[in-house]
Amino acid sequence: MASLSLKNICKKYPNGFEAVKDFNLEIEDKEFIIFVGPSGCGKSTTLRMVAGLEEISSGELSIDGRIVNDVEPKDRDIAMVFQNYALYPHMTVFDNMAFGLKLRKVPKEEIKQKVEEAARILDLEKLLDRKPKALSGGQRQRVAMGRAIVREPKVFLMDEPLSNLDAKLRVQMRAEIASLHQRLGATIIYVTHDQTEAMTLGTRIVVLKDGIIMQVDSPQKLYNEP
Ligand code: ADP
Ligand code: ADP
Repeated sequence: MASLSLKNICKKYPNGFEAVKDFNLEIEDKEFIIFVGPSGCGKSTTLRMVAGLEEISSGELSIDGRIVNDVEPKDRDIAMVFQNYALYPHMTVFDNMAFGLKLRKVPKEEIKQKVEEAARILDLEKLLDRKPKALSGGQRQRVAMGRAIVREPKVFLMDEPLSNLDAKLRVQMRAEIASLHQRLGATIIYVTHDQTEAMTLGTRIVVLKDGIIMQVDSPQKLYNEP
């Protein structure tokens, strides 16, 4: 389980630009939080701070009650999925998915078992020996997802993970993400521009503008659904 607490989080980049201003949000275990808002409003910056890829200028980030501001990314039990996949081109699907576990010195047999299990869930079993360039966009995206789920993180951060896919795949992957959320019992923060994704996946939606939270509401309330 994982709850997240963001208290008075600010990000001021070295050039003096304040990308995130006094961000406050309590995220409960197993929530599916959606970030929406115009380009440049601070969505990615916030995700990157939660992942530990960007330093928090001020404020406090806690995971399960423990302040993690100074905890390294690899020790945060968080996995991130980007829109550009960021797969290693020279590695096979298997090795791409195994990479994070190898870094953490997980025993080989356990790595094999976890990768094969993730491959089964994501329908990648027949593609484990391929290189990314020999995969379709949807398959690559599933590998990126697989690389995240093999680690069984408590928290998933997803930055427009479906935005590069065609409409049909987007619908399919949306359903897969919803089902993964259920099965893994993970807490998810998900950035999207797509209202359908926000409505079907989100437990709560956070609306950002100019680095400030404008609104936090359920999809039903936000989009005026009955
Ligand atoms: P979003 O993900 O909502 O599109 P970002 O978090 O990527 O927004 O960026 C928020 C703001 O911070 C933008 O105005 C962007 O130009 C700015 N920004 C992002 N990275 C840096 C940086 N390294 N230095 C200065 N400004 C940055
Ligand atoms: P060894 O212990 O002899 O090195 P392993 O079975 O541990 O053999 O795996 C060696 C390499 O084989 C891995 O790094 C991976 O690239 C590849 N590999 C292992 N299992 C699979 C699999 N099911 N599908 C594709 N490649 C695999």
